[in-house]
Amino acid sequence: MHDFQAILDEVMAAVRPVVGQGRVANYIPALASVDPSRFGMALATVDGDVFGVGDWRMPFSVQSISKVFALALTLSRDGDAIWRRVGKEPSGNPFNSLVQLEYEQGVPRNPFINAGALVMTDRLLSLTGDSRGAVRDFLRAESGNPAVDFDAVVAASEAEHGHRNAALAHFMKSYGNIENPVPLVLEHYFWQCSLSMSCADLARACGFLARHGRTAGGTRLLSRSQAKQVNAVMLTCGTYDAAGEFAYRVGLPCKSGVGGGIIAVIPNRCGLCVWGPGLDSHGNSVAGVEALDRFTTLTGLSVF
Ligand code: GLN
Repeated sequence: MHDFQAILDEVMAAVRPVVGQGRVANYIPALASVDPSRFGMALATVDGDVFGVGDWRMPFSVQSISKVFALALTLSRDGDAIWRRVGKEPSGNPFNSLVQLEYEQGVPRNPFINAGALVMTDRLLSLTGDSRGAVRDFLRAESGNPAVDFDAVVAASEAEHGHRNAALAHFMKSYGNIENPVPLVLEHYFWQCSLSMSCADLARACGFLARHGRTAGGTRLLSRSQAKQVNAVMLTCGTYDAAGEFAYRVGLPCKSGVGGGIIAVIPNRCGLCVWGPGLDSHGNSVAGVEALDRFTTLTGLSVF
């Protein structure tokens, strides 16, 4: 058995030199004011034990991490039908790139780049009538924290500066790959990205992927096979155009967000979340990548 608390303490001591490195996302102005010296990491076992270090109880903006939950909820309701509208290949391009969409007739490469998450939000909106509410309620239930909520300031800031996302959505609508009105899809997408959660909340919330699709309450959200599929897409596409580097250094299904958070899944064992707001040029947390690299190296835990 691993002493997870001792391992997290060791990881935090090792990454201290890089905490504060990188650039805090500023293309969403409300994110630019986050203190770059923050760092937290949490681990939630499949049995319900939670360990943490640093700022692991401090909420931050989940941003693209919300894309995992939107995919899981859509898959649980729609099954494989969604894969006709979005691919499952790494994009090799930045998360908000427009160029590939034109070559590929409005079908996004995968559900974890912005275009793919907009399609997912659109579908979840059609299936539930309230995509953002479905994602928030699921995260409240899985994290065990009923206080999980949207950050209206972040959502408004994203909407005000969301020209690229609007361009992606309109472009896909022109190909018939968005069912609902574009402004409505964008609104739900921005609110989902604005959800504010701590490392502890997110480590617990991704536990269903470590439990092969079973929720915290023991019910089945995804089939075993679907949970494996979501983990596979996280491994190959969850960290944008750095997914190869992540697989090489970390060796776990991961999903990052420009708020500086990264979730990771160790099937059968635990969910992990690390947070450090300074980002590298791909939009991934500098301290987060380092911490996950150290964690898997120290423990030998990996899917490989
Ligand atoms: N809300 C952000 C955006 O749409 C999410 C991007 C991210 O976290 N990579 O630009």
